[in-house]
Amino acid sequence: MKKFIIILILLLFAQTVYALDVVYPKKNVVTINAKSTFFIGSSDPKKKLTVNGKTVDIHKSGGFAYVVPLNVGVNNFNLKSGREKLNFTITRPETKTPAQTKPVPQFKEYEAMRYGIITEENTPLRATPVDAGINRISHLQKGMPVVIDGEKGNFYSIILGSNKTGWINKRNIKFTDNGSSLAELSGYDYIDTDEFFIFVFHLDKMTPFELVEGDTFQIKIYNVSDNPENTYIMNFPLVKSPEQAKLSGYSARFSGTDFIVKIRKPVLVDNSKPLKGLKITIDAGHGGNENGAIGCLRDYEKDLNLAFAKQLEEELNRRGAKVFMTRKDDSALGLNERVEMANEEDSIIFISLHGNAVPDGYDPNAATGSSIFYYYKQAKPLADNIISEMTAKTGMKNDGVRQSSFAVVRNTNALSILIEIGYVINPADNAKMREKDFQKVTAKAIADGIEMYFKREK
Ligand SMILES: [Zn+2]
Repeated sequence: MKKFIIILILLLFAQTVYALDVVYPKKNVVTINAKSTFFIGSSDPKKKLTVNGKTVDIHKSGGFAYVVPLNVGVNNFNLKSGREKLNFTITRPETKTPAQTKPVPQFKEYEAMRYGIITEENTPLRATPVDAGINRISHLQKGMPVVIDGEKGNFYSIILGSNKTGWINKRNIKFTDNGSSLAELSGYDYIDTDEFFIFVFHLDKMTPFELVEGDTFQIKIYNVSDNPENTYIMNFPLVKSPEQAKLSGYSARFSGTDFIVKIRKPVLVDNSKPLKGLKITIDAGHGGNENGAIGCLRDYEKDLNLAFAKQLEEELNRRGAKVFMTRKDDSALGLNERVEMANEEDSIIFISLHGNAVPDGYDPNAATGSSIFYYYKQAKPLADNIISEMTAKTGMKNDGVRQSSFAVVRNTNALSILIEIGYVINPADNAKMREKDFQKVTAKAIADGIEMYFKREK
């Protein structure tokens, strides 16, 4: 009898766990403008699941992802699992061929130079007149005067020395009646602290600048008189030996008309305890009313991110790091807030944790593995070390290390990376990501990767 009751309870439990549940598309009647879409969800793996009569592979966890082509117009889909049925009506709108392609904006050169000031804090100065991507030269402060020699589309062309121009969106600039083309640099002070090399350049006004991460760390201040090409250049030598040549964060900003560049000194670790005392910020992506992606098994990405973050916090603390968490619960946080928190903590590493997804038109079954994103070159070696430890120890596919312009990795003060641990819309990845053991192994692998990065070669 007892046995029978237990079996009955198990059966009931199984029933509730494996009810046919479609996570995506989110509604039964939707419009999707793509050649294909997919059904993401879960159902009883012991029952046959069909979409319009065709059998769908179900992962042992119950998760499934199934791609369906979309014809222009109305597409009807019928999902069946045992006695359960769900109907979906997906409309693919007709793609209108544009009657006229918009004319490509032409460059209009001004007859005389014009002057303006930056109206927004952290305005991107771009290498191309495009409002997206990895084309940022630097970020300029509100109130900075600029010299403009023309315009193209939504952008003004900004003079940078005598041989170079940059682009700033028109909405971030206000014209002024007068101005001067060149700034004067009267000299600089050099301050050597325990943690930083600090340069204070004394100028008579704010002026655009660029910091170049190369073999040397190059500080370029544009539109400075008495310099070749009106550009002041300082090549800061990073210490020669390879383990000390790593750039580990820097900041550059005007305070009044003084331009202050702080470069973090190379961190020399104790090889037996490489993470001891290192300040590391862990950022669990999304939170609050921002769920992030939703997994096959209806896990919210924000919850998975937090679970990984907590495991990583524990692992790094165990190894002696000083860990700061941008969020420890399900609270909402802005992207800039997260970066500011890391900077306030003076972290040397900033790691944002996420779960990946793909849009309509892609195949979630083919999207699998871990990937890491960075924006500034200084963070790439850290990303490389972590991805190799992760893929070696978690069994996840190496989905690559890439440069990308995510807001949270556009921070120079710390080595900033964003880890996509796996694809929550991929049934196999999703099943792994919700396992506590996998979360622990991942945390260990990330910590190992950070150690590898800091360990000095003998
Ligand atoms: Zn995310």
